[in-house]
Amino acid sequence: MSGTILVTGGTGLVGKGIQYIIENEPEGSRFGKKAGAKWVFLGSKDGDLRDFEATKAIFEKHQPTEVIHLAALVGGLFSNMKYKSTFLRDNLLINDNILELSHRFKCKKVVSCLSTCVFPDKVEYPLTEEKVHLGPPHGSNFGYAHGKRLVDVQNHAYNDQYGDMFTSVIPTNIFGEHDNYDLSDSHVIPGLVHKCILAKKNNTPFIVSGTGKPLRQFVYSRDLAKLMIWTLYEYNEIDPIILSTGEDEEISIKDVADAIVKAVGFEGDYQFDTSKADGQYRKPASNAKLQRLTGGFKFTPFQEALQQSVTWFMENYDSARTGGNGKLNNVETKQ
Ligand code: NAP
Ligand code: GDP
Repeated sequence: MSGTILVTGGTGLVGKGIQYIIENEPEGSRFGKKAGAKWVFLGSKDGDLRDFEATKAIFEKHQPTEVIHLAALVGGLFSNMKYKSTFLRDNLLINDNILELSHRFKCKKVVSCLSTCVFPDKVEYPLTEEKVHLGPPHGSNFGYAHGKRLVDVQNHAYNDQYGDMFTSVIPTNIFGEHDNYDLSDSHVIPGLVHKCILAKKNNTPFIVSGTGKPLRQFVYSRDLAKLMIWTLYEYNEIDPIILSTGEDEEISIKDVADAIVKAVGFEGDYQFDTSKADGQYRKPASNAKLQRLTGGFKFTPFQEALQQSVTWFMENYDSARTGGNGKLNNVETKQ
């Protein structure tokens, strides 16, 4: 692998994680850069990937040989519930442009990023790779979920028709440095970390949305980064692979809030706002296929990874992303 590896969404949570691993792992090691390879990390300033001509200009400029495709309109439960059509259409356009141009430019491999939201709402747990298309996704994020699901359909279609090696990964909930730490348009860990830091600073209660009962399975962005690099180097199936800690590491939102309280050093009041949605109760995913194929990957313990993320956010408070998802600022809704 000595060509140009293009990472779309290279400025986001996962993209920054991959950049960190590529810059810090020894060259030639299992997750490190290969000799002679050039890694290009793109952000939306390099071109709007919803636009075919802008995307084509990127491919003409960089002539990628492989693509890690992360770019997506991403949001937590609350933005997904509000902007379903935008989440569906933006992601369909981005994915279609990347896959079609990767085909036309004869890229040797594309690894796209899905999410456990793609799985059916009503399905036997744990989630495993072959259950993606067995029923409709949860209603709270069906726009985003269907947009992502179609990547797997496209990967198979490109492979069946042309023999393209396009595959995908399914991470569970991700957190880490460079996350979107907005107070409302964000995922649970960055949103609650920010709220807890403000509660500590202003001596106000720390409010957690929902009942605290739902369960989630988390993966640290730098662990995920290593696993995505492994997927690019070593995974050779079209079918997706779940990249996550084990299903026995599922934890409740209350456990997450407790871990955040500890990492932030917050000693004040802490309450649940049960008028806010809980979303899906749980979606445990099996990492058996991953552990079998990698020979056993060692994940960073949750509290340690959380502490690193909290420390990073505190040290980078002024430059970290806290301004919501700007891409949704002028989008209309009926609410
Ligand atoms: P993120 O931090 O929000 O980053 C999104 C990236 O996509 C940024 O680099 C952004 O560029 C880029 N982007 C968005 N719209 C674009 C457009 N129209 N044109 C060009 N670039 C665009 O997201 P993330 O959390 O790293 O997510 C990476 C992947 O993981 C996504 O495919 C997501 O669906 C998946 N995933 C995320 C989670 C999670 O918990 N975060 C869980 C499962 C799966 P700018 O920042 O420059 O605007
Ligand atoms: P999901 O896994 O797609 O639902 O993604 P989230 O990261 O948005 O997690 C949502 C879960 O965390 C739900 O049960 C929410 O009720 C709960 N939650 C508690 N506080 C917050 C918060 O401040 N932001 C978000 N996004 N979710 C929160």
